[in-house]
Amino acid sequence: MDNTVTMPGADLTAIFDRMSAIGARPGEGVTRLAASAEDGTARAFFATWMAQGGARIVQDAVGNQFACFDWAGEGSPWIFAGSHLDTQPRGGRFDGTLGVLAAGCAALDLDAEVRAGRTRPTHNLAVVNWTNEEGARYQPSLTGSSVFSGALPLADALALVDGAGIPLGDALAAIGVDGKTGHIPPRPEAYVELHVEQGRTLTEANRRIGVIEGTWAARKMTVTWIGRAAHTGPTPMVDRRDALLAAAQGIAAFEAIIAANHPHLHRSAARLVVEPNSPNVVVERATVWFELRGLDVAELDRAGDAVLAAFSTAAACTGTRLEIAADALRPPAGMASHLMAVVGETARSCGFEPLIMRSVAGHDAVALQNSGIPSALIFIPSVGGVAHHPDELTHPEDVQAGLAVLTAVLRRLVQGGFHAA
Ligand SMILES: [Zn+2]
Repeated sequence: MDNTVTMPGADLTAIFDRMSAIGARPGEGVTRLAASAEDGTARAFFATWMAQGGARIVQDAVGNQFACFDWAGEGSPWIFAGSHLDTQPRGGRFDGTLGVLAAGCAALDLDAEVRAGRTRPTHNLAVVNWTNEEGARYQPSLTGSSVFSGALPLADALALVDGAGIPLGDALAAIGVDGKTGHIPPRPEAYVELHVEQGRTLTEANRRIGVIEGTWAARKMTVTWIGRAAHTGPTPMVDRRDALLAAAQGIAAFEAIIAANHPHLHRSAARLVVEPNSPNVVVERATVWFELRGLDVAELDRAGDAVLAAFSTAAACTGTRLEIAADALRPPAGMASHLMAVVGETARSCGFEPLIMRSVAGHDAVALQNSGIPSALIFIPSVGGVAHHPDELTHPEDVQAGLAVLTAVLRRLVQGGFHAA
């Protein structure tokens, strides 16, 4: 990044427009997969912007970026605010990016107040860009925040491979994450994340600000049916062991079982890898990524076990073998109640009656909260609930409402105001 380029300062619209151009293609939204060249450009842009605003920039060994404002000095406690700059393939502009850039603008505004003596921090502030929140290129998602909070060992994260077999560590090295960690801030006393809702709850309730009390649980299963490669022409039908046929039966059974018995669970089979993926070879391996999301862990246990039984049946019917590559439960998180109270009270003082709500999706704030870092998650509306799509949109008035609340919350937290009045 050319450090002589002048950045827009604390103008969220201007910085958001500039960031939105990185990885954008006409009609195809934004593609900044984690640790890709586009991600590298976005990181450099973010670092240059924050450095021009006076921040000290450091990154850790998994590539999390910290733009540090050392207002209270060495040894003082920290507040973090941020989100992620990586996107889904052909993703929207707002998911994650808005949270990082809004936190950056809030920090720059507060920095001006600190310099003018109007705000007197007892805490330092870091604006954070967490690596690979999306989990599009590397699974699991929430990688950077999970490494920082200690839930995922660094070596395991760096060894994750993408669909082309490239380890995350190598991909990060290629965009300048060299493992040298610098002076990384310690675990913060609070983390605050502003994010778009990606659903329609706020719009339907006619509210601008959501205060997240917790998340749904998720059960994520990766299953492979293993058959036998064979010529699609001469091989007698009776001899075929078709893994794709098994996967198709498995997907259909999954939907039928959940729709009949647990219709309120959100579910998907959203990724399919077929090997060897030739029109003339009966499929030898078909791997499907399944997700079930709901509030009740016991129900996810029962529902997941029922579909696993159906997957075995699909294997038996097709003469294939079933392998469960992953079957992980993400428990429902409860967000930090003292921070919820602060956010709710601050939102009201900014003129917005907040909606207390749950998040269906996981976010970095949830990963941190689950590992013992008190975290707050603030939602603003998504038009039509559209997410992970180029049409993702949040109206400017809602963006400004979110920025105002985030800034006021951080102003309070950096001065030690952790509890509502
Ligand atoms: Zn996100």
